[in-house]
Amino acid sequence: MLQIPHRLLHGPGPSPVAPSVLEALGKPCIGHMDPAFMRIMNEVREMLQLVFRTENAMTLACSGTGSAGAEMLMDNLVEPGDVCLIGINGVFGGRLTDKAKRAGGVVHNLHAEWGQVFDTDEILAKIEELKPALVAFVHAETSTGACQPFDRLAEATHKHGGLLVMDCVTSLTGLPVEIDAWGVDAAYSGTQKCLSCPPGLSPVTLSERAMHKANNRKTPANSWYLDLNLVGNYWGGSRAYHHTAPVNMNYGLHEALRLALEEGLENRWARHQRVHELLKAGLVERGFEYASDPEHSLPMLNLVRVPDTIADEAAARRQLLEEHQLEIGGGLGKLAGECWRIGIMGHGAREENVSAILSALDAVVA
Ligand code: PLP
Repeated sequence: MLQIPHRLLHGPGPSPVAPSVLEALGKPCIGHMDPAFMRIMNEVREMLQLVFRTENAMTLACSGTGSAGAEMLMDNLVEPGDVCLIGINGVFGGRLTDKAKRAGGVVHNLHAEWGQVFDTDEILAKIEELKPALVAFVHAETSTGACQPFDRLAEATHKHGGLLVMDCVTSLTGLPVEIDAWGVDAAYSGTQKCLSCPPGLSPVTLSERAMHKANNRKTPANSWYLDLNLVGNYWGGSRAYHHTAPVNMNYGLHEALRLALEEGLENRWARHQRVHELLKAGLVERGFEYASDPEHSLPMLNLVRVPDTIADEAAARRQLLEEHQLEIGGGLGKLAGECWRIGIMGHGAREENVSAILSALDAVVA
């Protein structure tokens, strides 16, 4: 039998998984067309609507990780020649750009310093100039710890018939994500961040306007596997077989969603904020310096500069892992070697986890 080390997961994800989610994952596998599983799919969809704060009928758990959800949206919503406006202030805006280009989009980028967010007026001016068919921003940039405000973007995007897309992989259930109230047309997330389920599914939601575009494409979506016209009939509609849903992953997500809703979204957001403030106070007291814009810092992802006293940051992270069972993340992309990413997500956003993180850091960072 496999032996798995017991780790404290405080990097950029996966996050610690609640015992009842692990128990749900281990329940007997049943057929993916079994009426009992169809009921589970329905309940997953209903609970996803609640956490996304949407009434979108097209809300489902895409089979695959967050990148699959991103690709599902780009492949279905971008047609060859479509003008797209995508913000890059970290790794994940860059990946969205790549996906939109592969779908044939003519992509224009706005750039901001890593760790900073975009000024809303700057985005609005660019939308007015380009009148894009698709506008996409990352709500919670996991590579930098910055939270992009989404207010006023939908109105400007819709004025020219465009669609507003949001990456909420890291923010969903850790921060307010208001799909309907903010007028977001399509969004994707991941299970392994604040939902505290292992990686493997990507919650996605699309408005009727977004589905109108997906249903009326001149050419079929590039990806057969992620084609919403086909996947949509599997998750709803005629329930036609498309692919074999990862049955047990859906059990796990079902339980993770149940826990999030039982806690209450507002309570969960407040818990992330409270635990973030506790962690931040402890880090600052120890001389750590935050590298993201303090006005727009994410609670669940803390980007700090590697202390000067550490000569080899990778060796220090290895020591944290091997001697203290603590996983934290290294810097990604441009920030590799310069920063550390300390995540407090979902089940891991607890006071006792902050104590464990700080005492491990005390032992390794002199
Ligand atoms: N977008 C953001 C903001 C992320 O943090 C991640 C993963 O960390 C992704 C997209 C891609 O998700 P995945 O690694 O689950 O494919």
